[in-house]
Amino acid sequence: MALDEYRAKRDFTRSPEPSGERTPKRRRAGKRFFCVQKHLATQLHYDFRLEHNGVLLSWAVPKGPSLDPRDKRLAMQVEDHPIDYGDFEGIIPDGYGAGVVMLWDRGTWEPETEDIDAGLQKGDLKLRLDGYKLKGSWVLVRTRGYGGRDRSAGAGSDGRAWLLIKHRDEWSGALDITEFAPLSVKSGGDFSDILTEELPAFWTSNRGAGGNPEASLRSIVQKVEKLQGKRIELTPPPVEKPQARQRATQRKDATQRKKKKK
Ligand code: MN
Repeated sequence: MALDEYRAKRDFTRSPEPSGERTPKRRRAGKRFFCVQKHLATQLHYDFRLEHNGVLLSWAVPKGPSLDPRDKRLAMQVEDHPIDYGDFEGIIPDGYGAGVVMLWDRGTWEPETEDIDAGLQKGDLKLRLDGYKLKGSWVLVRTRGYGGRDRSAGAGSDGRAWLLIKHRDEWSGALDITEFAPLSVKSGGDFSDILTEELPAFWTSNRGAGGNPEASLRSIVQKVEKLQGKRIELTPPPVEKPQARQRATQRKDATQRKKKKK
């Protein structure tokens, strides 16, 4: 039920994103999972996700989390995601969220509010994070407008606009964490590394699944190049003809036999 909106937005024959059909066991007994996915779609943003009642509650944070308690980062609540989305890193070829997803941080969280559902209802959820990059005490508070200043901009947000704020503690500070630690906690790479890594799977799943993988890839590569300010060389793997492959193998065998004779 909770994942209806998530599934309605996606075509799982085209996207490698998990459909949430299987319900994985809790990773650590009694501990709630959290993650932040850096998502280069139409705009770069950070998806902040908290495990609760079998799904990942999700907020899109355009500027990403800040360790500075003076920063109030806009966090737009989006549809719940399946638990196994928390491991996802890869290329979303086209449609909703098209672009690249990086697992930017992950760990466990615990509420510092007695009743999570009441806190969500009220629009005030205090929490503690134990990730690789984000730690300590934080709060999510619902807001009427974007940052509370421009109320007109928040008008159509249906109570989905929240603010993510770091509490002052031993883990807060002026360090710009998104600049300081920009890479994946899963693969260690940046967006272009993820593109390179995921390219073979992208081709295999998207050739023959309809759509135009060449065009999708071109537009994604352009986004990454613009963000990283450098050219990316990606050569799509050629479609191998079985015969050519066989001949190549035979040639290789022949060479190896010659070498052995010497
Ligand atoms: Mn996103």
